[in-house]
Amino acid sequence: MVADCTTLWNDCLEIIKSTVGDENYNTWFRPIVPLRVEGDVLTIQVPSQFFYEWLEDNYVPTLKKAIHKVLGANGRLEYSVIVDSGNTQNPPVMVNYPNGMGGKRAGSNGSDSDYSPFTFKALNPQTVNTRLNPSYTFDNFVEGDCNRLARSAGLAVAKKPGVTSFNPLMLYGGVGVGKTHLVQAIGNEIRNSMPNKIVLYVDQNDFTTQFLNALQNHKLQDFQNFYLQVDLLILDDVQFLAGREKTQEMFFHIFNQLHQSGKQIIMTSDCPPRDLKGFQERLLSRFKWGLTADLQEPDFETKLAIIHRKMQADGIDIPTEVAEYLAYSVDTNLRDMEGVMNSLIFHATLLKKEIDLDLAKEVLKNIIKEIQSDVSVDYIQKTVAEYFKVDLDSMKGKVKKREIVIPRQVAMYFCKRYTQLTLALIGENFGGRDHSTVIHALESVEDMMKTDSNFKSSVEELGKKLKMRMN
Ligand code: ADP
Ligand code: MG
Repeated sequence: MVADCTTLWNDCLEIIKSTVGDENYNTWFRPIVPLRVEGDVLTIQVPSQFFYEWLEDNYVPTLKKAIHKVLGANGRLEYSVIVDSGNTQNPPVMVNYPNGMGGKRAGSNGSDSDYSPFTFKALNPQTVNTRLNPSYTFDNFVEGDCNRLARSAGLAVAKKPGVTSFNPLMLYGGVGVGKTHLVQAIGNEIRNSMPNKIVLYVDQNDFTTQFLNALQNHKLQDFQNFYLQVDLLILDDVQFLAGREKTQEMFFHIFNQLHQSGKQIIMTSDCPPRDLKGFQERLLSRFKWGLTADLQEPDFETKLAIIHRKMQADGIDIPTEVAEYLAYSVDTNLRDMEGVMNSLIFHATLLKKEIDLDLAKEVLKNIIKEIQSDVSVDYIQKTVAEYFKVDLDSMKGKVKKREIVIPRQVAMYFCKRYTQLTLALIGENFGGRDHSTVIHALESVEDMMKTDSNFKSSVEELGKKLKMRMN
């Protein structure tokens, strides 16, 4: 009997997993779907051209090894790339492997050294105002699960602007997830490594204002000429172009020209292109030509790393306990975190105060009011134990039974949310556990809330009860 493609691919995956490690495996191999096997050829479907190129650039030996082991020495792999149907520039490619490495890459039109045809007012790459902030770099952009794909794509673009098929690169995500930081890092990287490239960062506001000025002063030609000389155009927060017909039209024109001549375009938005409202369809379809990648809210570890890196950059030692306190307490977004850290740095450097929990709390109190409360740990413990009908002392103690552990974790969760206690102190109140147990508890509760809607409503109900007491 001939094995089906899923079985064969699963065998390959086993081998691949043991070579590349979990993280890479999850990012680059899990999303692959085996399509069919015909003779010695296994066809797999990859989600995008970017994926295909990434696999090719990084995992050829790994894939080769797996395929040869599973299919024999004549085994071959073919990719089928999912491509947006509106993308006439990047038609679906079928690539054979390992006969010749990858073949022609759609999208690499090799014309990135061509210069746009305008001779007058030529921009000088050295003096043009790029509007880049040099403090945003890849070095100080912390990598985490929340941003891995976007960061990889950004790095790839920074290495070969306009040449890869991730053009445009569209990054999206909520407030403070690092979109601006990342796109600026790409710009800075290109500016440093390719000083002859003209890099321009504009937020939608700059773009709209310049456009309206040009329109009023009959300088539209100049406006266009300016933009068409750019090698890398970064347009931040493109969602604000919604409903601006004329601005969109101009951007559409510039986009087409730049794209055709192999110039790189990067955009950010607060939602995926398909959810953008008030945009011309033809513009939206172009947004999807290249690669769209999202950035998500950072998890606890990533937040911690961001805090440490920022403080280190300012030459400040922040005790782990304080960093953890911030990572948990500032749960709105990273921009608020930035505010809190700046304020801490201000206190530490100018007022020469030592950064400790008290200072952190004081600073937080001024910035984020809702964290304050007067609910006591006792009250939380009592309420939670009653709610789940478990014995209070067992819940505060060491019993390891599941029916006790979960209420205990929930109680810890509320202590974190509604009191100003540190993780260590919360642990103290539950039979002398250490802060890592508390962190684990908080994460478990959050995970369970995501997967179990009954549990989630219980926690929310409890939250309301506790809040009533606070007001
Ligand atoms: P967005 O543009 O998505 O709203 P920003 O790029 O302005 O977010 O990020 C907000 C703040 O958080 C900035 O100070 C930025 O440097 C910081 N930040 C966000 N993500 C990271 C990260 N992965 N590593 C380091 N700093 C980050
Ligand atoms: Mg931004």
